[in-house]
Amino acid sequence: MDEYFKELVALHRPNRRQGPGSREVTLQALELTGVKGPGLKVADIGCGTGASALILAEHLDAEVLAIDLFEEFLDELKIRATDSGLGSKIATKVASMEALDLEPESLDLIWSEGAIYSMGFEAGVAAWTPLLKSGGVLAVSELTWLSAERPDELTEHWKKEYPEVGLASAKLAILEKYGLSPMGYLVLPKSSWIENYYEPLMARLDEFERGCSPVIDTIIAEIEQEIALYERFANYFSYGFYVARRT
Ligand code: SAH
Repeated sequence: MDEYFKELVALHRPNRRQGPGSREVTLQALELTGVKGPGLKVADIGCGTGASALILAEHLDAEVLAIDLFEEFLDELKIRATDSGLGSKIATKVASMEALDLEPESLDLIWSEGAIYSMGFEAGVAAWTPLLKSGGVLAVSELTWLSAERPDELTEHWKKEYPEVGLASAKLAILEKYGLSPMGYLVLPKSSWIENYYEPLMARLDEFERGCSPVIDTIIAEIEQEIALYERFANYFSYGFYVARRT
């Protein structure tokens, strides 16, 4: 792993979550899925240290396969699962979300919070939908414009960082294009970004020494810029949570 990712993983590992979200939103989205056991097969893709995988294991009669690119996150997830008595319900797999070696039509539920952007929403939906059983459900959070009009500066920023950022209507159309029937849409509230993600991340940044390594300084600068952007423009974008069933 190159130094940039090594430091990024070290920075994020101790925190409860590696992206915006909340227990309440995860449970609301889970309610919208309507999935019920027994014996559900669930995958959490880009699970990080398990913010959502642990909740899914707690609330479902299921085997949860927690998938991430970084083994260090999965090691942390295993510790948390054991500590919460959920170790027997969660298996982990180091893999890229772009090359998931899973059986077609094998899953009742695919979960993914704050991660699909890494391969792009449309490519992710196209690649993952065939893994769902007929009637299986996809629940995924994705960067979403909250209004059709917004400051040009913000549009330019996200066009550069994540060109697929779009309105919920465009995301719903993509779900439909790949044979999914939308069942629900939620917007992550500001507390999911600030209290649950940025504040713990800033507290963690204080433990990293500035000026020791250019890589660490780059990471800190990127995070500070991201937070400043969110604080200025929080009314215009958030993560949307999309729940859709394979027809
Ligand atoms: N779902 C977690 C983590 C979100 S951060 C949470 O909500 O807290 C995004 C996660 O996606 C990170 O854990 C990162 O390691 C993982 N990730 C990034 N690119 C990936 C890829 N190509 N394949 C699998 N996981 C990836």
